[in-house]
Amino acid sequence: MFKKFLYFLWIFVFLILMFLGLKNGSFITFINSMEARTFDIRQRVLVNSQVRKHNPDIVIVAIDDGSYEYILDTYGEWPLRRDLYAKMVDYIEAQNPKSIAFDLMFVKSMKSEDAADSALVNIFKKYDNVYTAMNLDDQPQDLRTPPKLSLPDIEPYPDTDNTVEYSNCRIILRGILDATSNIGMINVSRSNDGVLRRMPLYLKYQDKFYPQLGYLLANKLSGNSGLKNIRPDDEASVILNWYGPAGTFENIPIYKLLKAAEGKETLDYDFSNKIVYFGATAASLFDIKTVPVDKVYPGVEVQATYVNNLLDGSLIQRVPLSINILLAFLLAAITVFCVLRISSMPVAFGGAVTIYAVYVLFTYYAMQFKNLWFEIVSPLTFALFAFIITVIIKYLIKSRDFDQQYKLATTDGLTELYNHRYFQEQLQQLVLHAKRYEVPLSLIIIDIDFFKKFNDTYGHQSGDAVLRQVAMELKKNVRSSDIVCRYGGEEMSIILPNTKYEEAVGIANKLCTIIASKKYKLSSNRESNVTISLGVASFGEDGTEPAKIIEAADKRLYNAKENGRNRVN
Ligand code: GH3
Ligand code: MG
Ligand code: MG
Repeated sequence: MFKKFLYFLWIFVFLILMFLGLKNGSFITFINSMEARTFDIRQRVLVNSQVRKHNPDIVIVAIDDGSYEYILDTYGEWPLRRDLYAKMVDYIEAQNPKSIAFDLMFVKSMKSEDAADSALVNIFKKYDNVYTAMNLDDQPQDLRTPPKLSLPDIEPYPDTDNTVEYSNCRIILRGILDATSNIGMINVSRSNDGVLRRMPLYLKYQDKFYPQLGYLLANKLSGNSGLKNIRPDDEASVILNWYGPAGTFENIPIYKLLKAAEGKETLDYDFSNKIVYFGATAASLFDIKTVPVDKVYPGVEVQATYVNNLLDGSLIQRVPLSINILLAFLLAAITVFCVLRISSMPVAFGGAVTIYAVYVLFTYYAMQFKNLWFEIVSPLTFALFAFIITVIIKYLIKSRDFDQQYKLATTDGLTELYNHRYFQEQLQQLVLHAKRYEVPLSLIIIDIDFFKKFNDTYGHQSGDAVLRQVAMELKKNVRSSDIVCRYGGEEMSIILPNTKYEEAVGIANKLCTIIASKKYKLSSNRESNVTISLGVASFGEDGTEPAKIIEAADKRLYNAKENGRNRVN
């Protein structure tokens, strides 16, 4: 009964905790940010163990610190003149690359260099595998935030060619806008902690869709239909899967390509079949992101990772909430089973921790082999709560069982007084106490008068009833610190700590009078009187050992019987 109640309590407390957890937004935020960290750790371990290989065809033409200085030294200005980009594209195109994409670099120039600019525009007209980026940062906030979309909006993916209206874009060179539709946006979405884990597939503004440059590119590279595993969330975003820290993709400093394009030096590199990405890697050019695997990660490499993920079909998928909840309950159930079944607490704890470790390993391998993100923090928090609550309840049940056992071992079943063994133990203890602290201690032994005859007259059951009532009466009329015991048969004893002989005699007389004055119920319609005889002895005068004191009290009880019963001696 009590156990059942505890189980209900357990479930009740659990539901309350869950309810509070869900209601309290900051708790959820905390759990989510912890979860994001476990994602980062899994990604970092994967990256360090180098189990996932990046696409070797992706190469980055990097505007690194060295190139930036070279450009300033050689051309005396930044940004680089657009006709020089045109020259580099021509150089690469001669080797048949798969595609060339530019990170955001062709924003409308402060100064006008029409000849140089039109050389670049012509490049976009000439090659249909050249792409460039725009972003929407000059637009209102609602444009820069990924849209909340329901799945029917996403599938089938909108036909980007018809929906983009580039007049909304951050202004890039007008000629390029007119020359090509190979223009994608490169806005990213960061988590609350500033880390870039997700990438919007496209943004939507005034019913126009703006696709990611990487999506546009990967779609084209895979023949417009070969992309797998793109299941965006309700913000039309996907989660990136990382291949390595910054510098994982092959980097060619742009100054080397520039020298080769201008015929100053040869470049020993073959661009055939490569996916070429132009972008800044120099910290001074402000395109640095924090990603799960690195604090300093160039934006162009984020784009490369994204394209690589799309081509591999290796984007991370979050496991549905229902499965995470199911796993949380499973872990909690195993934990509860461990704690209830294993009697040793350290072993149970070790067992639970082992199960949690196995679960963490499982989530790691799920990410490695299936690109799945199983939650760690909330299921383990739930299981840990289960562990703590089960331990508390187990302890409560145990201590209650112990109390019951103790009561059984020290109480007499018929009278509910303390039993003989307890009497002996307590007397022993209290005699020692009296010796050490020199405090008084007395003992009364009580015997019911003519009880044999009583039994013979009224029957044994009536005898038992009277015995119980006399016991109750005795208990009721002494101090709570006095210890009333059933000594044996119809004999009872009372240990009176801190009580001198004279006081004890007084109490004994009072009890004698009270017992004799009461009527005792024998059955529903019969009553009778009984009397008792009492013998009193005390620590000191009558001895300093329990046996001596008992002997003295016994002797006086005998005297009381001899002197006519119903009296104290
Ligand atoms: P007295 O003490 O006055 O000398 O006479 P007595 O008849 O009470 O004699 P004694 O104390 O020697 O007898 C004890 C009797 O008490 C024996 C037994 O029949 C009865 N008795 C002992 N234990 C129980 C019990 O648990 N229930 C009942 N009904 N009777 C008991
Ligand atoms: Mg007796
Ligand atoms: Mg008797």
